[in-house]
Amino acid sequence: MQHTTDFLVIGSGIAGLSFALKAAKLGNVTIITKKAEVDTATNLAQGGIAAVLSKEDSFELHIQDTLRSGAGLCHEDVVRKVVETGPARVQELIALGVQFKSQEQDPSHLDLGMEGGHSARRIAHAFDLTGREIEHALMHQVANNPAITVLENHLAIDLLIASKTGLQNNIPSPFTDRCLGAFVLNRLDGSIATYQARITVICTGGTGKVYLYTTNPDIATGDGIAMAYQAGAKVANLEFVQFHPTCLFHPQAKNFLISEALRGEGGRLIDERGNAFMKKYDPRGDLATRDAVARAIDTEMKTSGDDCVYLDISHKPASFIKNRFPNIYQTCLSYGIDITKVPIPVVPAAHYMCGGVLTDIMGRTSLENLFALGETACTGLHGGNRLASNSLLEAVVFAHQAFHQCQTDWSRLACQKIPSLKAWSPGVAKKIDEGVLITYNWDQVRRLMWNYVGIVRTEKRLALVQERLAGITREVDRHYRDYLLTPDLVELRNIAIVAELIVRCALTRKESRGLHFMADYPAADDEKFRKDTIICGKNS
Ligand SMILES: Cc1cc2nc3c(=O)[nH]c(=O)nc-3n(C[C@H](O)[C@H](O)[C@H](O)COP(=O)(O)OP(=O)(O)OC[C@H]3O[C@@H](n4cnc5c(N)ncnc54)[C@H](O)[C@@H]3O)c2cc1C
Repeated sequence: MQHTTDFLVIGSGIAGLSFALKAAKLGNVTIITKKAEVDTATNLAQGGIAAVLSKEDSFELHIQDTLRSGAGLCHEDVVRKVVETGPARVQELIALGVQFKSQEQDPSHLDLGMEGGHSARRIAHAFDLTGREIEHALMHQVANNPAITVLENHLAIDLLIASKTGLQNNIPSPFTDRCLGAFVLNRLDGSIATYQARITVICTGGTGKVYLYTTNPDIATGDGIAMAYQAGAKVANLEFVQFHPTCLFHPQAKNFLISEALRGEGGRLIDERGNAFMKKYDPRGDLATRDAVARAIDTEMKTSGDDCVYLDISHKPASFIKNRFPNIYQTCLSYGIDITKVPIPVVPAAHYMCGGVLTDIMGRTSLENLFALGETACTGLHGGNRLASNSLLEAVVFAHQAFHQCQTDWSRLACQKIPSLKAWSPGVAKKIDEGVLITYNWDQVRRLMWNYVGIVRTEKRLALVQERLAGITREVDRHYRDYLLTPDLVELRNIAIVAELIVRCALTRKESRGLHFMADYPAADDEKFRKDTIICGKNS
């Protein structure tokens, strides 16, 4: 089957939906999403979206906070663009129906939260369910837009690339190839169709599932990064994996995050004996940035041998806690932890990918007609470490940037002929009869990454894991050829590719900076490494 559309948007989180709503003003939009529309990291975001929204704050402060967090690798022009246009994008969300919490005394002003690394209150939130509020409002708008079609249970497998189809002509510099759309697997009937588009936009979210412990939803298998790399696009800074310091530690809890905002509102990290420990590691104490807090917890746990540390907010009035953190309060209570009375057991977990598919300030990748937005992109905003709540902001700002670029180019794009391409061929592949071949490798990749490429790294461990991953990728490549594709097999290939790329980037950076901590190179080396780690795509 062959389908054509003006815009093919891969992913239905904040990045994909925001872009789709804008692009629908230019042409028809097809959003494909690999599970249900709502299965996104966006839907889980608790804290909120950062922007300069009060008189007590300033662009300069937000810019400086972002640059400080990014450890010398942020692109200042990008930071300025995101911070300075951020308030307008937040107002757009409000106009689309997102209900951020207002101040009780003065409902005309937003109730702005405080988070680690920020020097002013600037987090617009909907209590601790901000992501859900944004996702629902955007989905509602999309559902009512006749120019947008949403296809759930549609998984993009590979990008369609001009050089692989014999159509590589007139590709303007600096692009290296042209994207023509994607091959898409329908999870419900197993069929694979060709979706051709004038513009393809990867909005596939993060890579948390590459690690054994993560706060991310199951969809976060780095598909966009793997597909773009396989197609020849540049990827960058994949060594910068943010570990959230405070994930609920409970045998029955799956990836439940305890928001940064808890520390922003006075929560303190303590050990099993009740001693507060953050001041030992960072003068900012409990309000230090995530990397500093995650490393401090890692050190405390390794030194004491304890399974977890604790986050205590029980000294605050119970009514305040229940009102400000209803979701965290209820979820913890469902596990028998009353956070108004006792500290919460927490551990760090893989949370956010700062690197991704390399883009310019308009969201363009190194392949013509291919954009990458949201967590899947490396735009230059986060540098070596993302400042809390800057990611939802980045997604909406870059959705706007990309739309603006498409609008500028639309008269040319709209009259480009969409070529007729060959259908997907399964070759000699047959149905997989041993699911264990996939589950075993899944588990191996995730454990290897957790144990060897976690919060603290060494060159020796990275080299070891690189060797082991090479064996796994060879095996996965064979499965990919031999068996008919299933969602599990596609995702296994993607986490294996992304794991290899993370290790390659980590081995290149022989220093410690931001989120990348190498025990054998504990200092930053500005002379050699104050630059992005860029890997050219496989096909280029
Ligand atoms: C628990 C948690 C709390 C967070 N809290 C905050 C916060 O308070 N503030 C903040 O700024 N950030 C927060 N973040 C980060 C932020 O939520 C994400 O970075 C952001 O939502 C990513 O949006 P996105 O649109 O790029 O991706 P997502 O929202 O993850 O959406 C990705 C989409 O791509 C689809 N997809 C993936 N692969 C394929 C494929 N191959 N084919 C088809 N579809 C595919 C998925 O199904 C999904 O629809 C949090 C993250 C987590 C996990």
